[in-house]
Amino acid sequence: MKIEKKPSVAVYKLSSCAGCQLELLNLEPYLLDILEVLDIRYFPMAKREAGSGPYDLGLVEGAVTSGEEIIRLKKARADCRLLVAFGSCACYGGLPSMKNWVAERLVEERVYPNLAAVHSIKAYGIDEYVKVDAYLKGCPVSRDELVDFIKGVLLGTKPYLRPHSVCVECKLHENLCLFVTEGQPCMGPVTTAGCGALCPSHGRVCEGCRGPANDANPESLVETFEEYGLTRADITRRFRKYAGMTPEFERGAVSS
Ligand code: SF4
Ligand code: SF4
Ligand code: SF4
Repeated sequence: MKIEKKPSVAVYKLSSCAGCQLELLNLEPYLLDILEVLDIRYFPMAKREAGSGPYDLGLVEGAVTSGEEIIRLKKARADCRLLVAFGSCACYGGLPSMKNWVAERLVEERVYPNLAAVHSIKAYGIDEYVKVDAYLKGCPVSRDELVDFIKGVLLGTKPYLRPHSVCVECKLHENLCLFVTEGQPCMGPVTTAGCGALCPSHGRVCEGCRGPANDANPESLVETFEEYGLTRADITRRFRKYAGMTPEFERGAVSS
């Protein structure tokens, strides 16, 4: 994956809250170094001038929710040597994908006063439409993973993207398990690590924002959630909040 010269970078936005782009701008201790080593050419949220492609690296934030976005995404794919799904919206559909289980028209009516110009479609991650070279998960992306990834691109090394569950990081932090000791409905056992068990470390259950871990066992988690007294609708909502379009979390949603 190594890029020899100073890599040119484009940052795109589809349907998203811009929080992942903000995390890129929030890399304050590294920002000046990053500008030294990356040629950030296209980044409408941060730069007035837009340098033209082709680019070495494209970061795509957001889910695809309209035909116009499919066209923009395909152009981004054609313009970028490496294309990265940047954040859970781009990886799995993320928060926008919560609408996929409601009639499209009902969702549109809740948001737009005039529906004449609205042509939305189900929210998918970007690999539904184009080949993706790497996935940076999380809502928002983890700054540490982002820095690791940039180093990997510059050095030609494989970034360390964690396959195990949030529980592993939670144990490494020596947190008291909210799930086992307090019976709280934590998605940590089925969610991929990389955030440093951020939420349980602050006394809150994991909501599953990074999507499924390798070898996730959603059916078993559903059984325990039911023992804890969660309703089926509650359990389904938990599995569909960020990554309900993935086969693993959909298994959890339908088995509840
Ligand atoms: S993944 Fe989360 S933070 Fe990033 S753009 Fe989507 S909603 Fe915003
Ligand atoms: S609190 Fe959640 S993430 Fe932490 S060990 Fe327990 S189940 Fe896993
Ligand atoms: S603990 Fe869960 S919800 Fe919180 S940041 Fe990590 S993956 Fe996301």
